[in-house]
Amino acid sequence: MELRPKQPTRKGPADWFTGDVWIDPVAQGQAPSQLSVGAVHFTPGARTAWHSHDGGQTLYVTEGRGLVQSRGEGARRIRPGDVIHTPDGEEHWHGAAPDHFMTHITITEGGPHWGPHVTDEEYRRAEQ
Ligand code: MN
Repeated sequence: MELRPKQPTRKGPADWFTGDVWIDPVAQGQAPSQLSVGAVHFTPGARTAWHSHDGGQTLYVTEGRGLVQSRGEGARRIRPGDVIHTPDGEEHWHGAAPDHFMTHITITEGGPHWGPHVTDEEYRRAEQ
């Protein structure tokens, strides 16, 4: 058994997020595994940029209220207990609702590919 003491919470980089996002690392696979697990905390209105994941991504919402959207589809509201799976290579974003915090666990097995930020106009449309 290994008890790993709490690591410092990291600020999400401005290249990848709009608004304030904080990340707590949970687990990193050892090669050849590329498993990455983290808890991601979004402040109200904060969201990822558009991006995709090699091997897809599973999100598990643990707190708050949020939004997810895949390119070419309508946005969906998400809440604690929801599990969102995005397939390999599918462009999407995820974030908090405008007036709520949101935390999700992220589980990935491959690198992300980052695109443009979600504009205020895209976000406004998503939360309607
Ligand atoms: Mn994602």
